[in-house]
Amino acid sequence: MMFKHSCTHLTTLTKQRVLQWLGTIETVLFDADGVLWDNDKPIASAVNAFNTLRAAGKRNYIVTNNTTVSCDGILKKAISLGLETDKDHIISASLSVADYLANKKFQKKVFLVGESGISEELANLDICSFTVKPEPMNKSMKDFTLELKLDPDVGAIVVGRDDNFNVPTLIRANSYLQNRRILFLGAGMDKGYPIGENRRMVVGGGPIIAAIKTVSERKPLILGKPNPWMLRRPISAGLINPETTLMIGDTIQTDIMFAYNTGCQSLLVGTGVSSLKDVAKIRNSGNDKMMVMVPDFYLPNLEPISEHLC
Ligand SMILES: [Mg+2]
Repeated sequence: MMFKHSCTHLTTLTKQRVLQWLGTIETVLFDADGVLWDNDKPIASAVNAFNTLRAAGKRNYIVTNNTTVSCDGILKKAISLGLETDKDHIISASLSVADYLANKKFQKKVFLVGESGISEELANLDICSFTVKPEPMNKSMKDFTLELKLDPDVGAIVVGRDDNFNVPTLIRANSYLQNRRILFLGAGMDKGYPIGENRRMVVGGGPIIAAIKTVSERKPLILGKPNPWMLRRPISAGLINPETTLMIGDTIQTDIMFAYNTGCQSLLVGTGVSSLKDVAKIRNSGNDKMMVMVPDFYLPNLEPISEHLC
């Protein structure tokens, strides 16, 4: 593919060239946060592009590392923001974690450091999980750590975004992970989502996984993007052919890396986390291994996609 890792601005190509290229694309994978919506607000140009591509016969999937709600919750949000889609076309990191454990015929319990998005997907596949209510450190840290009771049936800890994460939870997670037979799974390493004009950050699962990793010295298996495991089911069912699939994302480390790992084409859109400055940093790093994170295409927003197709 002549555009591989070229970060070609789609708007610099002729309409005819864009149409010719779009004609080769059968499936489009959209990241959600920073691509389709900005917190609770739809990104209008993206909603138009999504529906226009669908009307043009493309198979659209939403592929998100967001674990705060289940696939049902993501679908509800997508529909409420005007996206034409259905449950079969929502893939989340929570689903990916649940699918991984179900595929392993996991029979034990999951200690979940995360939100209901993950627990619901685990329950859908008959995997038992529990969380611990935000615990205060109501004694010395030494006593808390020594007196902590662990559930012997736990076989995995799963970590995602957790709005109430604190030191007692960190100690609990680390105590489980001292048993090397207990799996350490993470949803995604997303650092967070910028909000407001000063780009404050809503914290994602990445910093929480990093904290547990630091204390435990265990390496987590990340099952959301960029792990190609996320597309295992649709690819093995013949629903997605990576060569004719375009991943549209706003975050280089997850979305663009995911496109590379799955063999899909990639388009970075400038409505979220990463910018052209980040692409320039990668290019200037002189590190050949980093070059795979340069997207094939770039657009500041998805407006031209619907314009070219209309
Ligand atoms: Mg995103």
